[in-house]
Amino acid sequence: MPKVKAAIYWCSSCGGCDESIVDLGERILAIRELVDFVFWPCAMDPKTSDVEALADGELAVSLINGAIRTSEQEEMAKLLRRKSQLVVAFGSCACSGGIPALANLKSRKAIFDRAYLDSPTNVNPEGTVPVPHSLTADGYPMELPVFYDTVYELGDVIEVDYLLPGCPPNGDMVATALTAILEGNLPPKGSILLPDIALCQSCARNETKPDQLTIQEFKRLIHVQADPVQCFLNQGILCMGPATRDGCGTPCIQGNMPCTGCLGPVGSQDQGARMVSALGGIGEAVREEDVATLLDGIPDPAGTFYRYSMSSSFLGSHRKDVKP
Ligand code: SF4
Ligand code: SF4
Repeated sequence: MPKVKAAIYWCSSCGGCDESIVDLGERILAIRELVDFVFWPCAMDPKTSDVEALADGELAVSLINGAIRTSEQEEMAKLLRRKSQLVVAFGSCACSGGIPALANLKSRKAIFDRAYLDSPTNVNPEGTVPVPHSLTADGYPMELPVFYDTVYELGDVIEVDYLLPGCPPNGDMVATALTAILEGNLPPKGSILLPDIALCQSCARNETKPDQLTIQEFKRLIHVQADPVQCFLNQGILCMGPATRDGCGTPCIQGNMPCTGCLGPVGSQDQGARMVSALGGIGEAVREEDVATLLDGIPDPAGTFYRYSMSSSFLGSHRKDVKP
């Protein structure tokens, strides 16, 4: 059987999604028999011109990770879309903004001010910040990608065929998804390649998850010794399992760490709103000071409830009224 051509590209991301391909371990040898990765900047040294030289649709699939923060990322996403039969939004940043989209809580100016002007470790007396067009000291024109005011998910700038969330998707998830793609055994376009049920349903601690919680305060994991068997919510430790999609095999729970929600929302609901709803009956706080005590255990509510999904949330999506 002739090999199919594929690409892996990273936009605004940490590189963990590229690492997850390596996490396939020996399974990558079988995939290598079927797939020729012709463009993968993290692992080789290809040029944009290599992609431009391909015929439209010549790539069987492109796995694009990372959110869209710059004009260069948007251009590459559009180029790969044109050259690919299938595009998979790979990882939580591509699917729903991920960690980079938490920056949508701030404007570009606020980010630049902090990064280039106000940080106590900066020495920048001329107040230089990056601009798309400038001249070098020798007078040569220099061009940088435009840093957008908003972080977008991949589906905001191109049509995405499938989504595989995760921070990053683990080896088993990647192997299952790649096998389905190579065998053409795929759900309807636009689907998320994971079960549409909440993580709690496959969690070994589900039996101890109470119907009605009566905690009076949330505790941070650094302040308590978590019981290795009890549901985290039952211990007053915030766990995003009720609002998070299943499919990872619960590695964090098995490591005695609560779920932080990296597979994104289950169903089409806003992940944070769903979690707040799940906690609706929580706590015995009736007085204002009790509510304050309860909230003190969640020092960063937006970063807790929307850590991986700010771009697709009700809270963050208003930033996308103006397209790049
Ligand atoms: S809340 Fe967390 S610990 Fe409890 S059942 Fe759900 S996933 Fe498991
Ligand atoms: S348990 Fe939660 S945070 Fe951990 S891998 Fe699964 S979805 Fe992601």
